[in-house]
Amino acid sequence: MQLQQRGYRLTPQRMMVVDALHGGADHISAEEIHEQVRARYPYANISTVYRTLDLLKELGLVTEVALGDGRVRYHPAEKGHHHHLVCQKCGVVFDLPETAISDFGDVLSREYGFLADLRHLAIFGLCAECRN
Ligand SMILES: [Zn+2]
Ligand SMILES: [Zn+2]
Repeated sequence: MQLQQRGYRLTPQRMMVVDALHGGADHISAEEIHEQVRARYPYANISTVYRTLDLLKELGLVTEVALGDGRVRYHPAEKGHHHHLVCQKCGVVFDLPETAISDFGDVLSREYGFLADLRHLAIFGLCAECRN
């Protein structure tokens, strides 16, 4: 991640947040990152995790999404963008490729002059099973 290249100090705690973001799963919540950081730095505060995530968001290095379960999840931008379909009845979550809604972005830009942030969306509704 290009934190250092942009002139930000890579403190051990920041580095651990970045590591947690890139380790394994595509999404991770601040709480899960905090658990991982605390395993190495027992006194690490979750506000440090949030501050680091805010910085990474500002720099466009992570995107966030709320899938309706009360936890915001973070995704490293360099792993590419995608979206989610979330069933409000059974809770199943499908991934949607970025291209699936690229026309929507064009419409918003053309019709409303609005530059939408469409990097990581959650679209809520009913899945094929539940709509019947
Ligand atoms: Zn996602
Ligand atoms: Zn469903």
